[in-house]
Amino acid sequence: MRRNILVYPDPFLARKAAPVTAVDDRVRTLIRDMFETMYAAEGVGLAAPQVGVGKRVIVVDVTPVDETIAPMALVNPEIVDRKGSVLGEEGCLSVPGVQGEVPRAETVVVRGLDEQGNPVHLQAEGILSRALQHEIDHLDGVLFIDRIPSAAATAK
Ligand SMILES: [Zn+2]
Repeated sequence: MRRNILVYPDPFLARKAAPVTAVDDRVRTLIRDMFETMYAAEGVGLAAPQVGVGKRVIVVDVTPVDETIAPMALVNPEIVDRKGSVLGEEGCLSVPGVQGEVPRAETVVVRGLDEQGNPVHLQAEGILSRALQHEIDHLDGVLFIDRIPSAAATAK
């Protein structure tokens, strides 16, 4: 089921999301809905708070940019290491019509759980690294426009 995407400045987007205590069918339904919603909106990532759910769940599918990277869902994702710094253009389904150059770590190591509740530990670079940092920011109520001077964000 497609869900409604909240749009800035909806105050819910600024709230910190709560950890998932059990990866159950309810969480898996949320993940399925998030993928469906993201694909319908032609995004490459989506975080649960963007569909009004205050849980630490993200989905990422960067295959439009790099088809070698499989789509993934992460529950309670956490950045445990970051290296380097790189600027890159970002947009967000919750901030339609705006793009901006955002500084991010070049590579990140992320830990979390998959949709079965199994531990995941991955190192990411390039578009996947950027997407993961963007989506994990959403779980802390941070939008990409919070990370750039407002003058640098331009309407498409
Ligand atoms: Zn976003």
